[in-house]
Amino acid sequence: MSLTIVGTVAFDELITPFGQSGKIIGGSATYASLSASNLFSDISIVSIIGADFPEKKLEYMRSKGINTDGIKRVEDGKTFFWKGEYHNDMNSRDTLITELNVLESFDPELPEKARESEYLMLGNLTPAVQMKVLRQMKKRPKLVIMDTMNFWMDIAMPELKEVLKEVDLLTINDEEARQLSGEYSLVKAAKKIFEMGPKYLVIKKGEHGALLFHGSKLFYAPALPLEEVFDPTGAGDTFAGGFIGHICASDEISFDSMKRAIIYGSALASFCVEKFGTTKLLEIDRAELHKRVMRFIELTQFDMKLN
Ligand code: AMP
Repeated sequence: MSLTIVGTVAFDELITPFGQSGKIIGGSATYASLSASNLFSDISIVSIIGADFPEKKLEYMRSKGINTDGIKRVEDGKTFFWKGEYHNDMNSRDTLITELNVLESFDPELPEKARESEYLMLGNLTPAVQMKVLRQMKKRPKLVIMDTMNFWMDIAMPELKEVLKEVDLLTINDEEARQLSGEYSLVKAAKKIFEMGPKYLVIKKGEHGALLFHGSKLFYAPALPLEEVFDPTGAGDTFAGGFIGHICASDEISFDSMKRAIIYGSALASFCVEKFGTTKLLEIDRAELHKRVMRFIELTQFDMKLN
């Protein structure tokens, strides 16, 4: 099995109640691919960077088994830059700066290998680029998952809806589900979103876990309560990367495998938020990941006799 991930490879700057990160590496494709690489190894990234992006960071991705041939470097351009500030409860953040830079004129051209993947993750990125990637796949992938955010709903809703028609599974947060569907109830929102294309919907609820909708079926997974959330940046992309990583590793597309995928995604996201940026994602190994998955199982299991 192989997986293509399209998304941003970026510079981020974060302000949290614990301090400031300075300029660090981020981006939706960075988080998603590093997360998926904990479960699965045949991953190709499609993205764009400027002259300022350090080659060493790409080398590091390659050392994790991620193919970076699809990351285009623009020698006279600057890498996408995002700056955000978190409030005291760490649940809400303000975007202070979004500089699209090289992303503004990104016309992706997929290397041969990336076109042949069985699985495709359209990570958070301009919908027009997501569509161009979709169109270059040699055959219809077994599963197309898409992650997006309010930013693109605000400025490119018609293009986003065009991409959605070809997507199997959408991951968004509750606010975005409401914005996309115009419904307050998440159950009603899911029904409306199914009419737009996806057959599966994952609603990420941050520290309150995630919901999986499919037809009339519903699954809920909590997030692991953590003593300290240091930096929530990338948690959503890490979740989506872990999710698709498990689906690729198991090569099983069913409601049951998606339930397991949600737990893997949640476990990886719980690591991600423990340190600034991608730091923690690079430190964990399979044994630690499995230990954390066990904690999710313990968190939700109980015996009960009905009387
Ligand atoms: P998350 O916290 O999961 O929403 O992801 C944050 C990451 O998304 C950061 O590393 C940013 O570089 C990246 N990001 C922020 N805004 C955008 C955007 N409009 N499109 C794509 N990626 C973005």
